[in-house]
Formats: sequence, structure tokens, C-alpha cells
Amino acid sequence: MNKDQIFEFFRRLAETNPSPETELEYGNVYQLLVAVTLSAQATDVGVNKATRALFAKVKTPAEMLELGEEGLKQHIKTIGLFNSKAKNVIAMAEILVREHGGEVPADRDLLTALPGVGRKTANVVLNCAFGAETFAVDTHIFRVGNRTGLAKGKTPLAVEKQLEKKVPQPFRVGSHHWMILHGRYVCKARSPECWRCEVVDLCGFRGKILEKGAKPATKPATRGAGARKAKEKKA
Ligand code: SF4
Repeated sequence: MNKDQIFEFFRRLAETNPSPETELEYGNVYQLLVAVTLSAQATDVGVNKATRALFAKVKTPAEMLELGEEGLKQHIKTIGLFNSKAKNVIAMAEILVREHGGEVPADRDLLTALPGVGRKTANVVLNCAFGAETFAVDTHIFRVGNRTGLAKGKTPLAVEKQLEKKVPQPFRVGSHHWMILHGRYVCKARSPECWRCEVVDLCGFRGKILEKGAKPATKPATRGAGARKAKEKKA
């Protein structure tokens, strides 16, 4: 995609959703940090179900310490990896109280120094809570970036670097949300809904599904390795 096409790509996504927000529910920056930490390998819907009752009780790191690890586990036991997540959230609360006066730091290095907080989580918090121009590459952004040709890369960090370079103003803060929502609801992993995609003419994906109900093109691997194996068997 060239510069004009990238601008048009985001202009159209922005038009359909001018004020994008994360689908995670939270009431303050600390709750956002906890919710994003819990959302690793879990759905936003699942996290929201668990955090509604938790966040009614716990609004600060000090309150999280009062609740304690066992109390936290009772709230989040429906979320995958809840044991290790509970450990991390409690250790994180201790550091926030001890070293940051109970506040969430607006700094990537300080955030990633917290237990359970990786680069992606830090980028989400910096973007959603502090309005930073960060690009948190999750599975959806990784797929949309590579498929469309907008930001190609073999690793999330490589895609993030491409987005940093290519996403123009005034879309830099919102691009993270637009790409996630686009990946989640239109450019889906198994069957992208290209037939109703607002950026279909800009997208460089070769396997577009242009008719509702049509099957995705067979992956080359099944025609390559698979076919070779079948041939060998016959022989
Ligand atoms: S045309 Fe298809 S592959 Fe391209 S962005 Fe849209 S849904 Fe995704």
C-alpha cells in the first residue's frame, strides 16, 4: 500500500467508528492495566465478565493487596492461566504501591518492568489511558497488517515498527483500535468477510473472499506438502 492508500484505509475505518475504544471495561488507569494483563490469551468478553464484580471492589493497587491472591483468584478463576495471572497482579500491586505511590507510570520501560506486563500490554495502556501513539500488535493487528500489506513483518515487533513508520496523522492514536476491530469483526482469521469490507479495493490480500458463504482458498501447503505426500504414498 502506498502513502495515499494507507491514509484512505484509516480514513474509511475511522469513518465507521470515529471514537474507538477498547472493549475491555475499566473505570481508571489501574483497572485498565489489570484488565489488559488478565486478557492475555483470553477474550475481552470473558475478562469483562470476571472483572465487573472485581472492579466494583478493587479500584487501587492498595485495595488489590487487601483482597489478596486467594481473594483475587476467586474473582478470576474463569479466565485462562488465572493462577499465574493472580500471582502477577498481586506482585504488580506491591511494586505500584512501593515504587510508584500507587499510580500507574506512563512510561514503557517502567510498565514492562512490572510482573506480567509485556510490550503489548504496556502499549495498550499507554495508548488507551495516556493517548500515546503506540501500536500494540495483538493477533488481529498482526494478521490485518500482514494480509493487507499495510505492515508486513514476521514478528509482532516487526509489524509494530512498520506501523510506527507508516501510520499517518490524524490516525496514529486510534489506529490500534480500528485495526483490532477490523480484524475481530471483518478481517477474521479463518474467513475474512471481504465481500463487506470497506477497504477491499485497497487491500493487497490475494485470497479475498468476495462472495458471502464462499469458502476460503485452500492453503498452498495442502497443495504442496500434502499433495507431495499423497503422491509418495501412491508411488
Ligand atoms: S479485503 Fe478481506 S483480507 Fe483485505 S482487509 Fe478486507 S476483509 Fe481483510
